[in-house]
Amino acid sequence: MRKVSILGATGSIGQNTIDLIARAPQDYDVVALTGANNIAQLASDAIKLKADVAVTADEALLPDLRDALKGSGVEAAAGATAITECATRPADWIMSAIVGAAGLAPGLAALEQGSTLALANKESLVCAGSLMLETARANGTRILPVDSEHSAIFQALIGEQMSAVERIIITASGGAFRDWPIEELAGATLDQASSHPNWDMGQRITIDSASMFNKAMEVIETHEFFDISASQIEVIVHPQSLIHALVGFADGALMAHVGPPDMRHAIGFALHYPDRRHLPVERLDLASIGTFDFRAPDEQRWPALRLARETMEAGGMMGAVFNAAKETALDGFIAGTINFVQMAEVVEQAMAHMSASDGHIDATMTLDNVLEVDHLARKAAQAAIHSRAG
Ligand code: NDP
Ligand code: MG
Repeated sequence: MRKVSILGATGSIGQNTIDLIARAPQDYDVVALTGANNIAQLASDAIKLKADVAVTADEALLPDLRDALKGSGVEAAAGATAITECATRPADWIMSAIVGAAGLAPGLAALEQGSTLALANKESLVCAGSLMLETARANGTRILPVDSEHSAIFQALIGEQMSAVERIIITASGGAFRDWPIEELAGATLDQASSHPNWDMGQRITIDSASMFNKAMEVIETHEFFDISASQIEVIVHPQSLIHALVGFADGALMAHVGPPDMRHAIGFALHYPDRRHLPVERLDLASIGTFDFRAPDEQRWPALRLARETMEAGGMMGAVFNAAKETALDGFIAGTINFVQMAEVVEQAMAHMSASDGHIDATMTLDNVLEVDHLARKAAQAAIHSRAG
């Protein structure tokens, strides 16, 4: 039996992971499940999967979690420290599917104990890519990408040499506002931004898809994870979300990964790696699909793509700034304090502020320094939000 833990078990990725694990309970010994607000889901899954411990991020919810777990034998814990601690409980495979920079410390803890880390939490690579990869190396373990594009790239690279890679192309659906007139974007509502044409995901990543901040994060994630230069990474709009990424080689060949927009594919690949096993996902009927559509991304519509490039050019800890400012701007949009197009303005302003402030971006990348930069960038983004709301 493989020992597994799921960080962010109550979310969209976490639930898809549980769906796969619950189909073969005899294969898995579940150690820890974590969540935040959704105590009912967390408790019922922990009981169903016979987890050792269930942890909520919110300390105020510990009594509710204890209540829900009463008599089950599942231990209850709460708080950010408890989440990081549960990631240090020995496990062979840990899913990192917390949303936001809150996933960084638990992901590092999982790597430090030598677990294979299935990484959906792209924020940790954007904030601290070299720290994550170095921690994996130092502890003799590996990170397996779960973001669909990165799983696709990883699969296209099996048996290949990085030196023969000319370019990596990641696809973007274009999100909710792909076809909107640009001048109407400022009026986009939270509801409109929260619905995705193809994928069923958590609210935050769905809004990030509409603004292309998700793709911008994924470009940085590609740069960090595959150690490939920014100039070799391309984004193409592919409204159907069937091709997830393509790798271009020195001989002009493109290897594409094609599959239905179902995260259980990338999760299952990381769960069974290096094997491939049966997965309960749709089999595509190419004749009925007919054509694959592509178009160039428009940087006027999606300034996040330009900001990603600037982030990679700046290097150092600008990724932590980019992510923290993006998270803060997204909070501002969700709260109704800024409009949809102001999110990119806020991120750009926070990046400018942080590159002008001495030394922070170029400091050594340690967890403490990343968290410090994250904190300062959130303050800068807050100030940018207030100046707009004001
Ligand atoms: P969800 O919002 O659906 O789930 C997030 C999870 O994190 C939930 O378990 C939530 O708990 C928990 N959580 C929220 N805040 C905190 C916190 N401060 N500390 C600890 N846990 C917290 O997100 P998704 O599943 O959509 O995304 C998870 C990650 O995977 C993100 O990094 C996202 O970018 C990435 N990803 C997601 C894809 C998708 O298809 N959904 C595709 C590719 C990548 P609760 O719900 O109980 O409050
Ligand atoms: Mg993705």
